Formats: sequence, structure tokens, C-alpha cells
Amino acid sequence: MINVTKSYLPSIDKYKSYIDKIYENGILTNSGPLVHELEQRLKLHLGVENLVLVANGTVALEIAYRALDIVGYAITTPFSFVATTSSLVTNNISPIFCDIDESSLNIDPDRIENLITPNTSAIVPVHVFGNPCDVEKIQSVADEYGLKVIYDAAHAFDVEYKGKSILNYGDISTLSFHATKLFHSIEGGALIFRDKSLEERVRYLINFGIKNKEEIPELGTNAKMNEFEAAMGLCVLDDIEEIKSKRKFLCEVYQERLRNIVSFQEVATDAKSNFSYFPVVFESEDKLLEVENRLNSKNIFPRRYFYPSLDKLSYIEPKQHMPISRSVSSRVLCLPLYADLELQQVNDICDIICGCY
Ligand SMILES: *Cc1c(COP(=O)(O)O)cnc(C)c1O
Repeated sequence: MINVTKSYLPSIDKYKSYIDKIYENGILTNSGPLVHELEQRLKLHLGVENLVLVANGTVALEIAYRALDIVGYAITTPFSFVATTSSLVTNNISPIFCDIDESSLNIDPDRIENLITPNTSAIVPVHVFGNPCDVEKIQSVADEYGLKVIYDAAHAFDVEYKGKSILNYGDISTLSFHATKLFHSIEGGALIFRDKSLEERVRYLINFGIKNKEEIPELGTNAKMNEFEAAMGLCVLDDIEEIKSKRKFLCEVYQERLRNIVSFQEVATDAKSNFSYFPVVFESEDKLLEVENRLNSKNIFPRRYFYPSLDKLSYIEPKQHMPISRSVSSRVLCLPLYADLELQQVNDICDIICGCY
């Protein structure tokens, strides 16, 4: 069976050597030495100044909204994983959707300004499938109206834009290190932020709001990463260049074989991809379903990602209708992509897709 992705497992001996350290020092969680080590290594690896590890990518978004005091309305994209929107709703922030650009699959920056009202306090774009948003245009709109920008960068680990990490844009960028992501720590996530002075507050917000032995200045939560997760992250980080280069090779094969048949996401110029997903867009939903059925019958399971468009969620108020996002999400499929997927398997997948035309 071939699924859309397969979690990367590093050398078990290396992982065991970290577990031995945990058994020696007896520290399992609460900002332990491995979490600290992973934070330091990630800052260097990603080229970012300020980074705090957390339990997952969803809670990273929630902490970001709290740390920046986001209230009222936030403008966001309907074409994303559900957590981008549900994290807003959980925090009593109303998502105002801005439709996407059909080629980049990202929020259409030219549509943002019209959606701003006195109740808007933030823009929450997503670098969809690791494709950098139009960060300059988004920042200039945000500056003009005094809005915060929080990038859901769950797909953007190691993505570069104009020679530096895309994570340096916006007030905060959040990462997910879920087992299915390019870089993972089983479960995990991070906040990356421009303003160093946010760090102290972020650190107590993830630890029940406890600042020190005397003070609990505000409502917090439990969003800590544990030592076993950090150990996995340290092992996966050692192998990340090899993981990316294997994925790059497979992406190039897909690209070469499918380019006259389906549409691809148009990636920003000046961007360096991380090869985290291989989305293809069909001309119709019927065609997508035909291809999906054919692949499923051979035990190959791509994923309709993202589907459905988030403006269809039942719990969204006010109700909204995003035609471009709905159209794309009905026609997009992420093809299997992971480091130990074999060339022959990619060729088989391409043969099946080509056989539908
Ligand atoms: C995976 C993902 C999340 C959620 O991250 P978790 O670590 O699974 O909580 C949020 N946004 C996007 C775009 C994602 O792909």
C-alpha cells in the first residue's frame, strides 16, 4: 500500500542513545535539556533569531494569537488545513475569508484590503504547500491598517525566499512538527517571532500562564514539548538534507511526466522549495475522482488536500462563500511523496494517471 505520506523514522540506535540520556537525567518534560538543544539547533538551521518549541502546530497558532492580543476578526485563507481556521474560532476570533489566487493557491493579496473593518486585528495567511505568500504586499497592507500578521508556516520548514528563511516574515510564523510533516518530532511545533520581547510571555503562556514562583499574570495553557519528542526532532534534523534531496528527485520525476496533463501550483520566483508536497490540479472534479479511483484500486492513496474548502465549515459565522477556493479544493490531489518512496512507484503512479487521459 502506498499512502500520500509516510512518517520518516531515523536510526533507532541514535534515537535510543537520546532515550538513554533521558533515563540518566530523569527529565521527561518541562523545558528539559533536549528541548533546549533542539531550539538552539533549529535557530541555527533555519536562520531565525527567536524560536520557542511547543506541543503541536495548532497550539502554536493559538499561542500566537494570544501573544499578539488578537481579537475580533482575522482575515485568513479558506484553502488550508482546518486548524488554521479552527484555532481562530477556539479563541473567539471570527475568521473572515479572503479568496485565493488560483495559480499560487495562496491568499490573494489584492483582495485583503476590501475585507478590513474597524474590528479586524490580524491577517493569518498560509504558505500553502510551502509556496511563499506575497509577503511584501501583505506586510504593506498590514502596516497601512495597523494589523498583525501571523503566518501559518506549517508547510514551510526550510523554505527560503530571497535567500533567507520565509519564517522571518510577519510578526509570528508557526510551524508544525507532526509526524506527517517534512521535519517532525512525532508531535510538535514552534513559534518564530520578530520581536524578542515576546519571548517571555510566549514561554509562560505555554506553561499555564506561570511566570515565576510568585506570579501567574494571565490565563495560559499547557503547550509544552516533551523530551522524547525533542529527541526525535534532533534525530530527524540530522537527516533533513538527505530527506529533501530524495524528495526533490521524486518531484522532478512527477513534474517531467505529468506536466502536459495536469496543472501545478505556481511557485513564487525567488523561492527555494522544500519539496514537502506534490499537489496536482485537475480540470474537473470528475477527472480527479476517476484518477483517485484508479489509484485506489491499485492500493495507492493520494489525498484530497485541502478538501473541503474551509468556508464550508458548519461552525463559521458569518457564513461566507469562496468560489475560487471551492473550485480548486474540489480538483486538487496531493500525490504520494516521502523519502523512501521508490522511483518505480512514482513511475507506476504516473502511468496510472496518464492512462486516464
Ligand atoms: C499540520 C497543519 C497544522 C496543524 O499542525 P499540528 O501539529 O498537526 O497541530 C496547521 N496548519 C497547517 C496548514 C497544517 O498543515
